Amino acid sequence: MVVIGAGFLGSEIAATARGLGLDVTLVDVEATPLARQVGAEAGELVAQMHRDCGVDVRMRRHVTGVIGQNGRVAAVVLDDGSRLAADVVVVAIGSVPATDWLTDSGIPLGDGVLCDLTCKAAPGAYAAGDVANWPHSLVGGRIRLEQRTNATLQAVTAAKNLLADPDGALPYAPMPFGWTDQYDTKIQIHGWCPPDAHVEVVDGDLRSRKFVALYRTGGRVVGALGWNSPRALLRYRGHIAQHTAV
Ligand SMILES: Cc1cc2nc3c(=O)[nH]c(=O)nc-3n(C[C@H](O)[C@H](O)[C@H](O)COP(=O)(O)OP(=O)(O)OC[C@H]3O[C@@H](n4cnc5c(N)ncnc54)[C@H](O)[C@@H]3O)c2cc1C
Repeated sequence: MVVIGAGFLGSEIAATARGLGLDVTLVDVEATPLARQVGAEAGELVAQMHRDCGVDVRMRRHVTGVIGQNGRVAAVVLDDGSRLAADVVVVAIGSVPATDWLTDSGIPLGDGVLCDLTCKAAPGAYAAGDVANWPHSLVGGRIRLEQRTNATLQAVTAAKNLLADPDGALPYAPMPFGWTDQYDTKIQIHGWCPPDAHVEVVDGDLRSRKFVALYRTGGRVVGALGWNSPRALLRYRGHIAQHTAV
């Protein structure tokens, strides 16, 4: 199996397929798996985890073509000329919001439907879930989240605000929480772990593959990542909400 794209989905698919005994190659243009989700340092640990489990990890590589034979996929070609034999190819390279149908509606569009703090895009029009792009006070900028938990929470706020008196509209400022289980490793994230953040291990250590790391941008704590450390990670949630140091 060749998995193209080493984000959450591609990495999990590679781990599961490898666990089933398949020969797996994981390809991505980024320097490490989960580079956009956890940054370079934790991403390198993810790469190492996959290598340790026998996955052929090819980072910083573009896929330039897929070769078929007798009506089936036979190989994937990379930009360095290498040809990866494959019976199965999985493409997990992300998604884009489907907003073309709103182009002439007057609803502001960008990376998704552009809303205000209260999920309002235009009078009487609100957005929630993967398609919503809104300013988040914790981030200090606009975000769009592709998470099931966010879709559920944001839908509740959007519906309340749609029905509320305009002066009573509530800002939507959740603390994102996500996780990924790969092999015997659980990686959990509270807040954000931007690739350009300063990363500091505050609990455990990298070598034992059991740690909590805080992510700081502009001197503010914006995220915490737990690697096989669910209980320890909970202690740091408050630091993100208040941007405080430890
Ligand atoms: C393979 C996969 C695995 C995932 N795993 C996780 C996970 O483990 N944890 C997690 O938190 N999140 C996960 N996600 C993300 C999660 O699925 C999404 O964040 C969530 O589904 C978003 O909900 P939504 O209602 O905003 O959008 P969607 O669930 O995408 O629903 C949008 C719906 O709108 C419909 N639609 C689009 N345009 C129109 C139109 N013009 N008219 C009518 N209908 C339209 C679509 O057909 C679709 O049914 C995963 C996503 C994928 C693809």
